[in-house]
Amino acid sequence: MADAPPAYLDHAASTPLRPEARDAMVDVLDRSFANPSGAHAAARAARQLVDESREIVAEAVGARPGEVVFTSGGTEADNLAVTGVAAARPGPVLCSAVEHPAVAEPARHAGGGPVPVDRLGRVDLDALEAMLEPAAGGPGVALVSVMAANNEVGTVQPLDAVAEAVRRLQPAAALHTDAVQAVPWLDVAVVAAGFDLVSLSAHKFGGPKGVGALVVRGGLPLTPLLRGGGQERARRSGTENVVGIVGLAAALSATVAERADTVRRVAAQRDRLADGLVAAVPGLVETGVARRADGGADRRHKVAGACHVCIDGIESESLLFLLEEAGVHASAASACASGAVEPSPVLAAMGVPRSAARGALRLSLGATTTDADVDRALAAVPAAVDRLRRFS
Ligand code: PLP
Repeated sequence: MADAPPAYLDHAASTPLRPEARDAMVDVLDRSFANPSGAHAAARAARQLVDESREIVAEAVGARPGEVVFTSGGTEADNLAVTGVAAARPGPVLCSAVEHPAVAEPARHAGGGPVPVDRLGRVDLDALEAMLEPAAGGPGVALVSVMAANNEVGTVQPLDAVAEAVRRLQPAAALHTDAVQAVPWLDVAVVAAGFDLVSLSAHKFGGPKGVGALVVRGGLPLTPLLRGGGQERARRSGTENVVGIVGLAAALSATVAERADTVRRVAAQRDRLADGLVAAVPGLVETGVARRADGGADRRHKVAGACHVCIDGIESESLLFLLEEAGVHASAASACASGAVEPSPVLAAMGVPRSAARGALRLSLGATTTDADVDRALAAVPAAVDRLRRFS
């Protein structure tokens, strides 16, 4: 056991590079270095790699190729959507209270208000409707941003209902969804069909870090964050990251092709993990799950890879330390928030008491998770909690 590779259960933070992405990128690194904006044959070949990747991405997310803007990742895609719309039109910006900081921070900067969520982490549709009521004489709402799936607890948002409410009450508002965590689990072409703007990030689905995309449908007016040579139809200047873009496209098509199988397999692993932890650890509560009539957990509103629990009387940091010693790589919350002493704003918005949120543990599974990884976590978490309780 000591020599076995660690059980990597932090796929929501980042995923291992898929072989399809690696092979495609190595090939580009070996044979293409020209600038895709150039006029000679080598430049045209680089341009073709970007164009082919754009077509693959467009097809996978249900957009037209001209609607795909490549960015430096999910954070830039989210910032471009929120700040780009806020700068292009007057009016309030609304986002859910459980957004990733890449949406929440630019929304706050634009004077935006958070829309509350219920205890499962789903947008409160009544509250959203109240916030969408047109104010007499004031500008209409500029943008509503609601993520497709949450990065901490895995809650899938009712995007259809959100889009319906926004289109009915504020037909001119732009709709953005951060689909960064959704790609491995949900058909983004379907769930985000009613949204004008859709953010993606390659390293959450087996692609490289530092590359992402924003879908901008139908020529929606957007003020660019980066101005310069006018690449990406002037929506994102800067020489394209050809290698990263090719890796993103290769990872995306492989992920989409295998998604149904992955979801089936990983959901069963996740259920075994979550049910096993609840049974083995007194005072451990699974976060944001509904209860079935038979008392079991109803996780239909969660992505397949998400297992989030709060453990009474435990500090996340100490637990993560012991888990790492036992060969389990996990997280307290999102990668950005872990290490911070403040409990997660996502859990606070869901009404999880501060005392419980201090013992938050996120075990996020992915396409490469094995049954042995789950076994290891099922052995390590109860043992670590037991040790911490005995010494506290
Ligand atoms: N949005 C969500 C929901 C995320 O989980 C993340 C990454 O954790 C991001 C945006 C940021 O993406 P990136 O790491 O590519 O900047």
